[in-house]
Amino acid sequence: MEDIRKLIVGNWKMHGLKSALDEVDRLAELCSRGEPKADILICPPATLLSEMAKPCADAGFLVGGQTCHHKLKGAYTGEISAEMLKDAGATHVILGHSERRLYNGETNEQVKAKAEAAIEVGLIPIICIGETRMERDSGQAVAVVSQFLAGSIPDEIEDFVVSYEPLWAIGTGLVPSPGEIAEIHMAIRQRVGGDIPILYGGSVKPDNAERLLSIANVNGALVGGASLKADDFYGIIKAA
Ligand code: PEP
Repeated sequence: MEDIRKLIVGNWKMHGLKSALDEVDRLAELCSRGEPKADILICPPATLLSEMAKPCADAGFLVGGQTCHHKLKGAYTGEISAEMLKDAGATHVILGHSERRLYNGETNEQVKAKAEAAIEVGLIPIICIGETRMERDSGQAVAVVSQFLAGSIPDEIEDFVVSYEPLWAIGTGLVPSPGEIAEIHMAIRQRVGGDIPILYGGSVKPDNAERLLSIANVNGALVGGASLKADDFYGIIKAA
């Protein structure tokens, strides 16, 4: 468990940064000052993937998608398949992010089907799960997360990542206590076994990253806002 290499993921969401390549260059420069002790994965908007794949590969960074369709091809206007992400250079795909579950009505069944499509083409799914504030306050956090896990993870799957992201911590500056995170990550660990990286996501910043990344069974971070600026993102990578 302790030797799972840390994975730091930047989720750029719908920020089609004009400075995308500059941020990659800057991050590469910062990371070249010392061997990063973590794998670094950037998930830009899909339109930037192929442009970023080469400079990222040169710098030793991975790139990934933010979602994919559950079918590999077909008449699905506006959608992007796992195969297209893979062709563009992606190694991973974030699935079931709470914003997709909330604004696009994604269900556990759909997330599971998307994960199956990802695996079929050789992408590693990063499956996001997390409770609402109300669920936490009413003592249901572990039960909710366990339900998400049971519903979203394909039965025959070996290589995947889980990201625990309490909804009330995303983009709010709020973070669960170390004990609360440890409790959830232990529950996830018991379900997924010893080799699967479990990330924490929700208001990870350079000034709290070291504390969060040192919690038992936290094998990395999924970072939204603080991944948009190379200097902030590096502050988190350094903490790993
Ligand atoms: C996220 O988008 O998954 C996220 C964790 O965002 P932030 O780091 O901004 O809270």
